[in-house]
Amino acid sequence: MQALRYARATSIDEAVRMLREGGETARVLAGGTDVIVQARERRRVIDLFVDIKHIPDVMGMTYDAQRGLTVGAAVPLYQVYGNADVARVYPALRAATHVIGGKAIQGRASLGGNLGNSSPAADSIPAMMALDGVAAIAGPNGRREVHVDAFCTGPGRNVLQPGEFIVSLHFPQPVAHSGNAWERFIPRNEMDIAVVNAACALTLEGDVVTAARVALGAVAPTTIMVPGAAEALVGRRLTDDTIAAAGAAAKEAATPIEDMRGTVKQRKHLSDVLVQRVVRAAAEHARSR
Ligand SMILES: Cc1cc2nc3c(=O)[nH]c(=O)nc-3n(C[C@H](O)[C@H](O)[C@H](O)COP(=O)(O)OP(=O)(O)OC[C@H]3O[C@@H](n4cnc5c(N)ncnc54)[C@H](O)[C@@H]3O)c2cc1C
Repeated sequence: MQALRYARATSIDEAVRMLREGGETARVLAGGTDVIVQARERRRVIDLFVDIKHIPDVMGMTYDAQRGLTVGAAVPLYQVYGNADVARVYPALRAATHVIGGKAIQGRASLGGNLGNSSPAADSIPAMMALDGVAAIAGPNGRREVHVDAFCTGPGRNVLQPGEFIVSLHFPQPVAHSGNAWERFIPRNEMDIAVVNAACALTLEGDVVTAARVALGAVAPTTIMVPGAAEALVGRRLTDDTIAAAGAAAKEAATPIEDMRGTVKQRKHLSDVLVQRVVRAAAEHARSR
């Protein structure tokens, strides 16, 4: 572990000031399940943790059937997946947050931390992308919003500028006859990093898909949207052939690396299989609402 300072911010402005004054070696501390490990292993030079968990806006969660869901960036994951509205309306988000780490991790880890860490294999990011999530960001130049699908720029890299941090994540209320789903493949039953993960949100009119968003993780330097899979679905009846075409588009879009967790061939195959599964599950959710 490196020697470092700890500061507790109690307001958004105070956190921005602390981060700006701390410069490049200051880091936001949410649950700490990534950043404390990185500091301990000296994978990043950090000399100041700015704890944001005492800022009310960062710890709240609200749902409204008109406006949708807003989750404070540091709300622990167990509160996200334990929320009845999340389970009913945003099952993709529920499924992804429910498998991150184990119980102990879920008591600390947050959506803001999963996004801020910007791992290509992060489990919640494809779910947030499929749900068209928007990050509310505060910084020295005021507030701005960035869609989650435009947030990550490379492994461990994102659009945040010095002094900026994520205050909350907003998910619009899905229109009628919409559904969503998330899945991942890991070699064990739990506590592992995704070989591939996938999410889909779609809207049906009868049997015809009228809107779709498909996202994949662990197959590129960042989590990615798969517009080809959405195009294979929209305007078509949801048949086995249509779903297979969406899977094939995902396989085509995946540009994975080969590492200890999986080969290129396996990851491309899994992209196909998982996208087909999340499309089917999202359609089932849409029909049940
Ligand atoms: C045993 C174990 C198992 C794990 N399993 C999984 C898993 O299955 N799937 C998975 O995806 N991840 C997993 N992780 C990684 C980690 O738990 C998640 O990425 C978690 O969501 C990080 O959240 P946190 O609040 O702990 O982030 P922190 O560690 O506090 O922060 C992570 C990074 O994001 C930055 N950050 C945090 N909050 C903000 C914010 N509001 N604004 C801007 N930047 C911010 C921090 O400065 C840091 O760089 C695991 C970790 C461990 C230790």
